[in-house]
Amino acid sequence: MLLRTHIIFNAGLMSIIATALTHRPLTSIAFSLLTSVLGNILIDGLGHEEVILGNRVLIRRTPRTHTLPKSIAWGFLPAPLLIALLNLTHSLTLLHALTTLLPIALINGPAHMLLDSLTEHGIYRRVGGKWVRYSIAHLRSNNPLINTGLTMLGILMLTASLSL
Ligand SMILES: [Zn+2]
Repeated sequence: MLLRTHIIFNAGLMSIIATALTHRPLTSIAFSLLTSVLGNILIDGLGHEEVILGNRVLIRRTPRTHTLPKSIAWGFLPAPLLIALLNLTHSLTLLHALTTLLPIALINGPAHMLLDSLTEHGIYRRVGGKWVRYSIAHLRSNNPLINTGLTMLGILMLTASLSL
């Protein structure tokens, strides 16, 4: 999927869960949005490589970040830093932030993998010592219908977070 689709969808998904657990919509949305932006930039920034094919340059996913276990680590990575920097103490105690917001960041990478597994190039998993691509649907990454639909769903979840 497109990077902006990952960012908005994951921000919506994490913010609706975070708001349900903390009852602090603005803090939850800020944390989810920043975790999503940084985590998804890391996953796609480090997990794509350029392949030159004749006079065309193709962007290819790599197993560096596009496996389920590695995506969990890369998607989670910005979260502890954000909790330290966001000064959440005016709305949440540090313990509350660490026990509610931090675990939510563990779904950032798997949500990215779920969306990429809907595309024709899929994600990677190790089978018999080799990387094998795995996908559950074969849509193009830039399919406008699925990207718009998932972006709208993300915006809906972000908006719903405000009314929880
Ligand atoms: Zn990706």
